Amino acid sequence: MSLALLGCGQQPDPVLELGGPTMGTYYSVKVARAPAGITADQLQPKVAAVLDAVVAEISTYDETSELSRLNRNPSTEWIPVSENLLAVIAEGQRIAKLTGGAFDITIGPLVNLWGFGPEAPHDGVPSEAEIRAAKMRVGWEKLELRASPPAVRKARGDLYIDLSALGEGYGADRVAAWLDAQGITDYMVAVAGAIRAKGLNAKREPWAIAIEQPMPDRRAVHRIIPISNRALSTSGDYRNFFEKDGKHYSHEIDPKTGAPVDRKLGSVTVIGAVGMVVDGWATALMVLGDQAGPALADAQGLAAYFIVRDGDGIRGFGSRSFEDVLAVAGVGDHAAVNRDPRQ
Ligand code: ADP
Ligand code: MG
Repeated sequence: MSLALLGCGQQPDPVLELGGPTMGTYYSVKVARAPAGITADQLQPKVAAVLDAVVAEISTYDETSELSRLNRNPSTEWIPVSENLLAVIAEGQRIAKLTGGAFDITIGPLVNLWGFGPEAPHDGVPSEAEIRAAKMRVGWEKLELRASPPAVRKARGDLYIDLSALGEGYGADRVAAWLDAQGITDYMVAVAGAIRAKGLNAKREPWAIAIEQPMPDRRAVHRIIPISNRALSTSGDYRNFFEKDGKHYSHEIDPKTGAPVDRKLGSVTVIGAVGMVVDGWATALMVLGDQAGPALADAQGLAAYFIVRDGDGIRGFGSRSFEDVLAVAGVGDHAAVNRDPRQ
């Protein structure tokens, strides 16, 4: 008997659903076939606590977070940091190096200047002089890391680190690790566009993730991506932006120009093993743009899906390894990938 026939007429398995606000956005968790005795009401505060702990480490929106304290610290000597904070900073530095600085976690002063940070929104487009001044404080090479004991050293006391491009993925990773520790084997965690999926959904299929069309005014599905035992993250220019004099300015900033990237690329989705990594790469490829982005994705063997604006329409295409990764994520190979991909 085929799998499809077996599933025929069967009721979907039970699913627990929970969610709430975090990191200025929303998270949601679905658990299929939860272990006996586990309820959504029980999970809710515990998942929220995991995310609160992440915010307390790496958020620039929380003035008391470890990262905010590091940003306020004017010292140019080694500053001790937690292993968790160092791990996220280190991933940022790794992607910075691989992208020739297109991805840059010291981008904070420019992000704030353009009104996309925790400071009060800037009124419109900053002046050339303001951009020049902010750029002086930006540069991933101005930040040195030490593994043990974990510490960072700033070349300028006014360096300002912004981990927002990695934070949602990192948050999804931490929730996933916590669910794993509870013996939960089938779940989907979403922190905004950063997803961790494990096992199978209620219909015993891979979790279905919708890639949106990159349009600010409505939500429409461009493509459904099935994933299991994978992380996926989408970055786009169509949710967080402002318009001034008919021009669109989004929250992905090119460190070279000090200004938001152009609008050719609508979104980038990256699939891999670790949420923090795919989240960072999705932003990085957005900044690199529709030419350099796909080229680097291929060179790095990244499974990435690009949506470009083409005249009045849009066009989607995958990197070389994208469809291969999807094939592996499919239900037929579930057993082969049914383990934590980080191991
Ligand atoms: P979202 O937060 O909507 O998921 P991203 O993951 O793409 O989007 O992160 C965008 C955030 O990353 C910006 O709001 C900003 O804080 C930060 N950022 C902007 N430009 C860069 C860059 N060139 N390198 C690293 N981080 C950036
Ligand atoms: Mg990102």
